Amino acid sequence: MPIIQVENLFKRYNGVEAVKGVSFDVKEGETFGFLGPNGAGKTTTISILCTLLNFDSGVALVNGFDCKREPHKVRSSIGLVFQEITLDNELTAYENLKFHCYLYNMNRRVAEERIEEILAVVGLSDRRNDIVKKFSGGMKRRLEIARGLLHRPRVLFLDEPTLGLDPQTRSHVWEFIHKLKKTVGNTVFMTTHYMQEAEVCDRIAIIDNGGIIALARPDELKRSLKGDTIYIKTSDDEKAKTEIREKFGLSARVTDAGLSVLVEGGEKFIPKLFDRLTTEVLSVNLKKPSLEDVFINLTGREIRDYGPAARFRG
Ligand code: ADP
Repeated sequence: MPIIQVENLFKRYNGVEAVKGVSFDVKEGETFGFLGPNGAGKTTTISILCTLLNFDSGVALVNGFDCKREPHKVRSSIGLVFQEITLDNELTAYENLKFHCYLYNMNRRVAEERIEEILAVVGLSDRRNDIVKKFSGGMKRRLEIARGLLHRPRVLFLDEPTLGLDPQTRSHVWEFIHKLKKTVGNTVFMTTHYMQEAEVCDRIAIIDNGGIIALARPDELKRSLKGDTIYIKTSDDEKAKTEIREKFGLSARVTDAGLSVLVEGGEKFIPKLFDRLTTEVLSVNLKKPSLEDVFINLTGREIRDYGPAARFRG
């Protein structure tokens, strides 16, 4: 049985349709990514699954428990790391973690071991007795993630887990999540708009405008593009687009990065392009398929066009 089951989920906020008929399953032990731009409906979906938000219709089950009817059972079997900082500023790092251990009824010896282990992982062992108020935004995020992992939940929910962290801390966090997966085998459900993070997921659902527009393994998504993407800037993109259709039988898309054309064997196509196009070519870029290209191909936009995540408060 899947550890997360979502069927035809709908959520409206005062007329805004945030989630429109989303369906997916997550298998036990999977790292499942919800990839999408700001405003796509990622936080709404994850909040529903964590029982922090009610939904209008559909089915949402986590660990076999119904998110609507059995919220307490759902909550006791999951870990959460949200974008908002929810640490107690007046307590030390150690006290924040200890408090969490009490809430989860962890025995004292296990709690002490896990606190030490997790503080080392997030690089905060030497700050264990400092009050959180003095921490930087990045340090607070690290502590927040440490706390979410402390009780080794069957499903760990991460909402934009590394937003605002420096690249080194981001990679430490990911290393730890992978290590944890190997030892405990827990499921990770994460939302992100970072393509690189999505690459490490076992499967990804791409969400845009409240709906899932693709769901597969990252390599499958990339293979679905069937070729390389060539970005071409010209003196007249509309004219070049027509020429590309007439001379090569290919359909080009107008994007902010210029015309984009999907071709097999991009290296061989570029010389032919220069040879046969009468429109002046200003620049050409060849890109092997990436998740960004998958997104552009599906939506016609780049993920960063949507602007920074609104809720990030560092
Ligand atoms: P994401 O996490 O992908 O950035 P959200 O789930 O936060 O997207 O938002 C999806 C849509 O719902 C957006 O149009 C957003 O403006 C809207 N929305 C989110 N929260 C609220 C709210 N509390 N009230 C009204 N609209 C909201």
